[in-house]
Parts: sequence; C-alpha cells; structure tokens
Amino acid sequence: MGLTMDLQGALKKYFGFDQFKGLQENVIENVLDNRDTFVIMPTGGGKSLCYQLPALMKKGTAIVVSPLIALMKNQVDAIRGVSEEHGIAHVLNSSLTKTEVRQVKEDIVNGLTKLLYVAPESLTKEEYVDFLQQVTLSFVAVDEAHCISEWGHDFRPEYRNLRSIISRLGDAIPIIGLTATATPKVQEDIIKNLGMNDAKVFKASFNRPNLFYEVRPKTKNVDADIIRFVKQNQNKSGIVYCLSRKRVEELAQVLQVNGISAVPYHAGFDAKTRAKYQDMFLMEDVDVVVATIAFGMGIDKPDVRFVIHHDIPKSIESYYQETGRAGRDGGEGHCLAYYSYKDVEKLEKFMSGKPVAEQEIGHALLQEIVAYAETSMSRRKFILHYFGEDFDEVNGEGADMDDNTRNPKPKEEAKDSLVKLLRVVQDTMEKFKTKEIVRTLVGKTNALISSHRTEEKEIFGIGEDKDEQYWMALIRQVLVAGYLQKEIEQYGVLHVTEKGKAFLATPVSFLMTKDHEYKEEEDSSIITNGKSTGNAADEKLLKLLRDLRKREARKNDVPPFVVFQDPSLDDMALKYPITMEELLNVHGVGEGKAKKYGKPFVELISTYVEENDIVRPDDLVVKSTGANSGLKLYIIQSVDRKLPLDDIAAAKGLELPDLIKDMEQIVFSGTKLNLGYWVDEILDEDQQEEIHEYFLEAETDSITVAMEEFDGDYEEEELRIYRLKFMSEVAN
Ligand code: ADP
Ligand code: MG
Repeated sequence: MGLTMDLQGALKKYFGFDQFKGLQENVIENVLDNRDTFVIMPTGGGKSLCYQLPALMKKGTAIVVSPLIALMKNQVDAIRGVSEEHGIAHVLNSSLTKTEVRQVKEDIVNGLTKLLYVAPESLTKEEYVDFLQQVTLSFVAVDEAHCISEWGHDFRPEYRNLRSIISRLGDAIPIIGLTATATPKVQEDIIKNLGMNDAKVFKASFNRPNLFYEVRPKTKNVDADIIRFVKQNQNKSGIVYCLSRKRVEELAQVLQVNGISAVPYHAGFDAKTRAKYQDMFLMEDVDVVVATIAFGMGIDKPDVRFVIHHDIPKSIESYYQETGRAGRDGGEGHCLAYYSYKDVEKLEKFMSGKPVAEQEIGHALLQEIVAYAETSMSRRKFILHYFGEDFDEVNGEGADMDDNTRNPKPKEEAKDSLVKLLRVVQDTMEKFKTKEIVRTLVGKTNALISSHRTEEKEIFGIGEDKDEQYWMALIRQVLVAGYLQKEIEQYGVLHVTEKGKAFLATPVSFLMTKDHEYKEEEDSSIITNGKSTGNAADEKLLKLLRDLRKREARKNDVPPFVVFQDPSLDDMALKYPITMEELLNVHGVGEGKAKKYGKPFVELISTYVEENDIVRPDDLVVKSTGANSGLKLYIIQSVDRKLPLDDIAAAKGLELPDLIKDMEQIVFSGTKLNLGYWVDEILDEDQQEEIHEYFLEAETDSITVAMEEFDGDYEEEELRIYRLKFMSEVAN
C-alpha cells in the first residue's frame, strides 16, 4: 500500500498523471525490485513511462537503448520538462562535441543524470564502455526491443551485441525490454538474445477497439479513390503510406493539385525538410502527410483520424504499427489498405536480391498480409490471432469495426472439408506448408510433393471437388479457429493441434466464408472487357451511364465503346463531372471526344447529382502533370509523316507493344491517328475487311475476346493496331 501511494505520488509529481495506464504500475514495481522485465504493449500504450519513472526514483543512471536519434531527443526534451535539472537526461552519441561529452560525463558522475539515452552503435564504443563501467547504473532499458529479431519489422544487427555489452557494464544489471511487437516468435528472440529467461513478462492486449479496418482492391483508380476518401474526411489529420519515395512525391502532388493540403515525407529529403514537413503535420498546417514508412516512429499526434496504405505493407506487424498511429486519443481511426496481388509480386521481386534466409522470412511474412487482405473473417480477430490473442468476434470490444463484419459473407458448412484438410496435414506427416497442402488436396503435384511420394497416398486429390481458393480460405479460417497451427520458425509448416485432433475424432459443424477475390486488372489499363473496375464508383450512376452510352451509340451508329470506354464511365461515376470542362478530367476523355459525345453525359450526371444530393468531390482534377505529353506529340507527328511504327518505337527506345499502348491512350482520348498506311503494310484487303466487320458488330472492344473469335488467325498486335485505325475512323 505504502509503495503504491509512493508510486502514485511520483507519477503525479513527475508526469502530472493521476492514474497508471494498463500494466504500468505492475511493470514499474518489478523494475524497482531489480528484476528483469519484459513489456509488450501496443504503440501508444505508455511504455516509456515504465522505465522513465523508476529511473527517476532509483539511485544511479538508467541507460536507455533506442534505435532512433530523433526519438531519443524528443524523449530527453520531455524528461527535461519534468524537472528543473537540465542534466537529468542526456543523449550520448557521435553528434556531440568533446565539450558536450565532458558535460554529460560530469553530470552522470555527480549523480544528476537519471536517464542516459544511447544508440546501440554508440554503446559498442570502448571509450563509453570504459566510462560506464565506473559509474552507478540503475538498469538498462532496451526500447523497441524487436529490433533484435529478424522476424520483427525493423531488424537492426547492432541490437544483437547488446547482451555482451550490458554484461561488461557491471554484474547483474537488471534489464527491461520493451516492444510493441507481439508475435510469439519475436518475443522468443528477444528473451533469448537479451538473456533474460527469468524476466517477468507483462503483455497487454493489442486490441485497438476504436480502429476500423478496411481493405479495398487496388485498381488504377486508387488515386481518385484516395482523394475521395480524404475529401469525405475534410480537415481531419491522416497519413497515407506508399512504398516508394517516387510514389510519395507523385501522390502528394496529386493530392495538392486536388485541393488537399498535403506534404510528402521520406528519408530522401534532408533533415531540415523532413523536420519542416513533420512540424507542418503536427501543427496542423496540413491535413495529410504522404510518406514512406520512414514517417511515424515516435510521432505522437493523438488525433490522426485515418491511415491509408496505398501499397500493401510488408508484414502484419508493420501494418499494425503503422495503423496504430491512428486514433491514439481513443477517437475514430480509419485504417484503409489497398490491395493488389501485383504489389505482392513486386515486393517479392525486391527481396530476390537478398540472402536466402532473409527472403524466406520476408516471404512468410508477406503471405500473412496477403491472407489478411483476402480473408472474409473479422479482421480484428485475424490480426489479434497473429499476435497470439484470442479475440471474441461477437462480443469483444470493437467486434463490428471492420468491413468484413459490417458486410458479412454468407457462411457455409465445411465440416467434411475440414476433415479432409486435417487428414491431409496428418497424412503428409506435417511436413508441408499451405501451398503444398492445397495442391495435395486438389491433386496437383510439385517437386516437394513428389519427393514425399504423396501422389501414391490415398489422400492425394481428396479435395478436388473444390478449387484452390476454397482451400486457402478454409486453411486461413481454420488456423485462426485453432485446429491447425503454423510453425513460423519452419517458414509456415502446418501442424494439427490438439483441438484439431479432437475434431477428427468426432467432427462437428464448422462454418466458413469464402475469401474475397480480387480480380487482377488487365495490363493495358485502358482496355477492359466490359467488366467494371474499381468498387469506388457509384454503381447506380454507372448503370445509367451505360444505358445512355448504348443509346448514343445506336444514334451515332457506332459500337458503344467508340463513344466512351468502360474506364471512362467508371471514372465519371467517381468524379461526377457536370460541366464539359470537368469532363476533360475524366480518364480517357480528350477534347474531341468530349465535344462529340460529352454533352448528354454531363447533363445526365448533373441531374443525377441534384436528385440524389451527391456531395461532389470539388474540382477533382486528378493529375494533370502530363509527363508524357512530349512523347505523345512525337508519336502523333511521326504517324502523320507515315513513319514505320518500328522506327517510331526505336527512336524513343520503346518496344512495339509499349508504343501501341501509348497510341491507344492517344486514340481513346479522342485524337485521331491515321494508321491506314501501316495497316496496309501488315494486313491485306480481305483481312482488313474481316476485322473491320468484326469490330463493327462486336459487343466489346476487348482484344482477348477478338483473339478468341479469330482463333489464332491474327497476332495480338495486328488486332490492336487495326483497332486503332478503326477507332480513329469510326469515331470521327
Ligand atoms: P509507447 O512507447 O508505448 O508507444 P508512449 O510511452 O510514447 O507509448 O506513451 C504514449 C502516450 O501516452 C504519451 O503521450 C504519454 O504521455 C501517455 N501516457 C503514458 N502513461 C500515461 C498515463 N499513466 N496517463 C496518461 N497518459 C499517459
Ligand atoms: Mg515507445
């Protein structure tokens, strides 16, 4: 009781807080007792106080190891704020002058300094080690301790040396390790590497009930979708994460052009610029920061209302950390991620240059985030399961706070399937990862499967009545439900748990939902075969626009796609252009097209907007930087001069398909290209007539469909080039 009073008093005295948060008090008591302590708390949980307060109360100096210099500086400033004594906290690192180092040492020796922040690489310096051996140390705090593990989201090799250095600093100096990374594997690494097997572990729940989780498919409309989201959240603070610096700068610009106050942030800017942009965000001079993951560590802005991931993050932990910056004040926090499997493949490609072990880790982590994106179950339950927590998706706090639980998919009985699945895992001796299990179920083999002679087993192909996606979905849900377990250390090998064995003995009902399926877009972004892309568009309006297009096509005696292509309609249903000028900002609409076909469309949209009280994204001018306009001009001029396409391509260092793509952009936005001269080169008269007839009658301008129709009579490029000629003629 007495101690509790003292602690409360100290909390109030130093920090002005009336109450401890979560497990803080228990942690601090443990530290004050000189015992090793391991704290696992989500970001914003109040970990710093767990070592700051005991450091202030104990005799001697506490060493705080932390990976980021900027972060250390903030903390030191904060601690200096709680005391009259400037020397109460110091940073020791290579940026200090000799005089400054002398002052730091003097303050430590005189017992003034309670907290000494050191970067791990500085701690290895002999000079510092020698000095620290001679002074009284209260304990060592290792903040962001997950940096010790390759399985964490921020591995730093210097952290690996900490144990040996701490041992040299003195006998039995207590350690407190702190992290917001909750995966069992990382925790194990931390305990092992810091040599604190006897540490008392304090683990808080990672549930952030005020955060709303959502995943949307990433289409080419992603920028417009983000703009729309931000505009619907006007004057709220938000972070948009992108993987590359280039994308950060581009997107920030696009947001700015569209009237959103945004700044870019990435490690490529110099320190001054970074500090400026960060301050602008903190001071609310701008609403949005578009950033790489370099932004956010140590950012303590309590009212970040949304965190958007333009690209899929590398792991669930990174995602959790980054989204954790939303809603720290307990208020609304919308976490929206855009997902496309292409991004995953890109990330895998980046990894391919790395050492094999690292690649395998990276791959295993990526597969988890893929599963998160594709799953149709409670996203909160999925994340928390990843962190070793069992979340009650019906009654738990925040249970309805994600897109999947708000719009649940129908459940289906999967009892028999589950029996098959568990049998396959057992009968393949628990040697396979998800991929091999799925293949075995549907009766497909590969080298690994073969090497275990799985094809000869009775269970090979017992699940062939279902497809691979079905089995992936089932495995994901079964893992979370606890019938199977994934061995992360073995890069994802599956085991049947006790619960799974019990199920096999007496199978009961198991209900599952199918995963989301995200269709990949065709590579040529302007051509689609009639399917709608981008779920952000207004479906009702889209239908009206399609009907109108049909009528206009009939009136003009051209196929509908000559009027406007699907992506243009999609974009109209997103941007609601109500003037001819605004129409020009729509994807694939150039001046020619706007003039020729635009009027009835803007009239329809205008009426629609009025009747349905649509709040239009004001002056939505998505991207007008026109980076390629020089190239386009060159193409148009060269075609006018009737140059061979091969030469035009070669002159610009393009492959022919790329040139065709550029020409498609030109033609589909309403500019004519007189390609007759070139078509005559590659197709004879009869052929031309045949293709012409086809396009006149066709439902769609899809080349894939045309290829099928002609059944190999024409090359893809021939058809695409003819289509260009066709569109240029028919539309004019
Ligand atoms: P973490 O390191 O776990 O991400 P921090 O130590 O940065 O979290 O603390 C997050 C925020 O919580 C800080 O603004 C801090 O001042 C505040 N905080 C910590 N402990 C308390 C407490 N007992 N009462 C009120 N606020 C607290
Ligand atoms: Mg912290």
